[in-house]
Amino acid sequence: MNTLTEDLLEPRLKSRLTERRHRGLERELSVTSQASFGTDLINLADNDYLDLANDPALKAAAQEALAQWGCSASASPLITGYRSLHRDLERALCKWLGFPHGLVWTTGYAANSALLSLLPQRGDIVLADRLIHNSMINGILRSGARLIRYRHCDLDHLEALLQEPTANGRLAFVVTETVFSMDGDYPDLAQMAKLKERYGFTWMVDEAHALGWYGPHGNGLLAEAGVTEAADIVVGTLGKALGSMGAFTLFRQETVRRYLINEAGEFIYSTYLAPPCAAAALQGITCLRDRAPQRSQWHDRSSAFRRQLQGVGLNAPHGDSPIVPIILGEVAPTLAAARALKEDAILVPAIRPPTVPAHHSRLRLSLKASFNEALQERVLDGLKPFVAQVP
Ligand code: PMP
Repeated sequence: MNTLTEDLLEPRLKSRLTERRHRGLERELSVTSQASFGTDLINLADNDYLDLANDPALKAAAQEALAQWGCSASASPLITGYRSLHRDLERALCKWLGFPHGLVWTTGYAANSALLSLLPQRGDIVLADRLIHNSMINGILRSGARLIRYRHCDLDHLEALLQEPTANGRLAFVVTETVFSMDGDYPDLAQMAKLKERYGFTWMVDEAHALGWYGPHGNGLLAEAGVTEAADIVVGTLGKALGSMGAFTLFRQETVRRYLINEAGEFIYSTYLAPPCAAAALQGITCLRDRAPQRSQWHDRSSAFRRQLQGVGLNAPHGDSPIVPIILGEVAPTLAAARALKEDAILVPAIRPPTVPAHHSRLRLSLKASFNEALQERVLDGLKPFVAQVP
């Protein structure tokens, strides 16, 4: 009975996997041992930038929610999954980032993909930074709108594209991340806000990697740049600095929220965010607000670390975000570097195509607020053998 699967499907899949393997691009799932955390392991791999995932206040909030609401939302939000905890979280997120309307999602991938598949339509154009996250590309391609990618963070290129006339009744969307997930850089948001004033477009901004690290209340780069008012739609995730999991979208018009609740399959047909995750995120907002005054120290440490990397001859860009890429170029040396660092108890992922462009494979180091000079020295020592491989 299995012959179709065995004779046709399996060989097809195997041949694709073999092709991947030959290019050094096969991905493998491996268990990250819990035992290694808490020893002398330096974890520069995950996105828990403020160490909140194990913060006692978040754990207590999650435990309390677990006791009160149980392990699961047990249903999609339009059935019984949307609870007062989710509504409280939505309101807290709106207040924190300064938007009137919001919606919580189970993942950032679902939020981005849903939003961008539903708001732009055939005939519209979407001008997107060349390096936006896969979740956004996925949505834009489904929307049927025309996707035009401008050079990464190149606002002159964006402006040149904006000068081309759009047909009557057609909308232009501009889509960017603030902190880019694989490059750790960010566009000049004040300049983007000016472009919006000049040309008029719907501006969608993903703050996934900026929340917590930037903003007077940890509320992101738009707030840090003082241009929150210019953004039409903001996406943020709960699974990075906020120490939980899930995501949210914020809007200026209630209609956008209502439209998504009615049309987004990712929202309508999926079990809603587990209550302990909602509770942890709610507590996470308070923690990020409290810690925001320290942010200039984290920025300075990131800048100093990058200078040290450059000083030993490594290809790391300037900047102050928590994401520090070290570009090694080809796949094989990048994998070898990540493996060797792991043996030194330094956890750093190797990022390869198609996640990044060909010949731009890299180590991606995510710093945490707790990153200090002693850790920096150990990481620099571990990295020195790879200096010779810098392209
Ligand atoms: N946006 C960006 C910029 C991301 O880097 C990611 C994932 N790391 C997402 C969205 C997706 O978020 P989630 O992990 O919640 O699906």
